[in-house]
Amino acid sequence: MELSKRITGLTGGGSDGWDVFYKARRMVDDGLPVVELTIGEHDIRTDPVILEAMDRAAKGGHTGYAMIPGVQDLRKAVARRLSERTGVATRPENVLITPGGQAGLFAAHAAACDQGDRALFIDPYYATYPGTVRGVGAVPVPVRAHPEDGFQPRAADIDAAADGAASLMINTPNNPTGVIYSRATLQAIAEVCQRRDLWLISDEVYDTQIWQGEHLSPRALPGMADRTLVVGSMSKSHAMTGSRVGWIVGPEDAIAHMVTLATHTTYGVPGFIQDAATFALDQGTELEEKIAAPFRRRRAAAQALIAKQNLVRLVPSGGAMYLMLDIRDTGLTGDAFANRLLDDTLIAVMPGESFGQAAAGHVRVAMTVDDSAFEIALGRVLEFAHEVTA
Ligand code: PMP
Repeated sequence: MELSKRITGLTGGGSDGWDVFYKARRMVDDGLPVVELTIGEHDIRTDPVILEAMDRAAKGGHTGYAMIPGVQDLRKAVARRLSERTGVATRPENVLITPGGQAGLFAAHAAACDQGDRALFIDPYYATYPGTVRGVGAVPVPVRAHPEDGFQPRAADIDAAADGAASLMINTPNNPTGVIYSRATLQAIAEVCQRRDLWLISDEVYDTQIWQGEHLSPRALPGMADRTLVVGSMSKSHAMTGSRVGWIVGPEDAIAHMVTLATHTTYGVPGFIQDAATFALDQGTELEEKIAAPFRRRRAAAQALIAKQNLVRLVPSGGAMYLMLDIRDTGLTGDAFANRLLDDTLIAVMPGESFGQAAAGHVRVAMTVDDSAFEIALGRVLEFAHEVTA
């Protein structure tokens, strides 16, 4: 039987970019002590207080179908959070609860793009972006940011790609680079979106992981609330990756249509998970800071280690649980570096090439093992860079 082109072509025919990750997992399965600095998964599990709230909700009977837009308390909690953080008045009707940020990215593109529309996003990008765009029948168009600009995108490049485009997706704090977009960058992007009539899909799943500077949501910029779809998630902020709970915030009419989409796709998010998410958000920033703190510490330690040498450069690290290392001076591609590093030292990092063209010659290091293991592993990565260059 033939399968649809939509599904067989989802990754665009090539690899899905996760080869090094899969190879590392096979090595782990074979019993090798691989240090995995690959995916964005905390080294702690969901906090017991959140699990207790989940348990109370489930045992209290919240195990049936939940309201498809999301339970009202969680919609309210997200609306309050966005109102406070962006200064844009946000009502529960502006919020759709989704099974994680990924489902939000998909629904946002389904809302913004017709079949065949171009959907722009910034390269380097989170690995699922092109497939998400293809999944709704749109055409993925990466727009390169440049290492020499500290990976801040150029508005002129977005503008040059905008003919036939319906949307632009950005992600700040950024995965894979750890870069936070400046106010000037976001203002220039907002101006292009308005001039070229683009939806702005703003992936803000790392908004609680800010190491330097501040997170600015483009929804807060003048004229942007009506054309911005913010995607958020409990995965990174509350170490709830496995709970699959996130949201989209946008104009009421767009949200109403995405509720209809949810009725025909996800049919909502389990009620006891939503209750746990509400509880977690009600704990305020203290819990978020507790979850972000290990990454803050490791990033500071990494800066100190990297400053001791001048072969490997750190891409300006403002937020998120990743560091992007510029290893171009070793003469290796990111792919070759990551593969040889894994074979020789049993340390797994992601090649920059897994995230598009723009981060070629870089590797992404997830700060997702305990502090001392992280420092030892990073020290070894830097040593390895010197060995392969010598
Ligand atoms: N956006 C970015 C940039 C991510 O890194 C991730 C997860 N790694 C997601 C969205 C999706 O996260 P989730 O579906 O777990 O909320």
